[in-house]
Amino acid sequence: MMRLVLLGPPGVGKGTQAERIAQGYGIPHVSTGDMFREAVKRGTELGRTAQEYMRSGRLVPDEVTIGLVRERLSADDCRNGFVLDGFPRNLVQARAFDEVLAQIGSRLDAVISIDASVETLVARLTGRRTCRRCGTPYHVIFNPPPDPNTCPACGGELYQRDDDKEETVRKRLEVYEAETSPLVDYYRAQGLLQVINGEQDIDKVYEDIRRALEEATAHDRA
Ligand code: ADP
Ligand code: ADP
Ligand code: ZN
Repeated sequence: MMRLVLLGPPGVGKGTQAERIAQGYGIPHVSTGDMFREAVKRGTELGRTAQEYMRSGRLVPDEVTIGLVRERLSADDCRNGFVLDGFPRNLVQARAFDEVLAQIGSRLDAVISIDASVETLVARLTGRRTCRRCGTPYHVIFNPPPDPNTCPACGGELYQRDDDKEETVRKRLEVYEAETSPLVDYYRAQGLLQVINGEQDIDKVYEDIRRALEEATAHDRA
């Protein structure tokens, strides 16, 4: 049982680490970005709404996002926990999320905040390639797939996200600073925050996360 939020700027490695955590702890990886991209691909109403915002690097409206997360977390597979990646992204979402948790009589075990310099983030985002089918991220230099066009996990096609082009990347980093970074203090005040150095290689970051989670859950039991 583990209920986690991964916090951090675009490109810091949330999706990459969330996949590992999901496998390691046997909990679902819940990514609002992946859910929105899936809706865009299917051409649903939600997808048409989300697409406009995503294209320009702005946040999808809170009502839409909160409703989506509430529904997803009430699914059976989330009963034993989840790792949330990309939500909450502002204070309105964080407060609404606290209410959702209270309603279902549950609470978070930890919030993992991963950080890295802006130069690192830009280099990671502009070299990112994403699987169209399963959403797994790769990197042309830092985490290259054996075949540059094919996802080794599922055989899907790898592509560059529209919002990973340089102009949109800058906008997303601004949105993070203005709207999402205040959540670091919000969760520190709740005693849930663990900060991880995201400048390290993928294995080392995961090792630090595991250690932080062990500490967080040891406190719980004590
Ligand atoms: P990143 O790799 O930057 O962390 P995501 O895949 O999490 O990107 O998000 C991509 C886009 O999807 C965001 O720029 C935003 O438009 C939208 N999005 C994802 N999660 C949220 C959220 N919790 N609230 C509002 N918009 C979101
Ligand atoms: P986020 O979900 O926070 O936007 P991702 O997990 O998609 O971030 O990672 C962004 C890019 O950086 C991807 O191309 C990924 O392969 C790469 N990456 C992730 N973690 C690391 C790391 N520790 N070192 C180098 N590259 C990384
Ligand atoms: Zn795939």
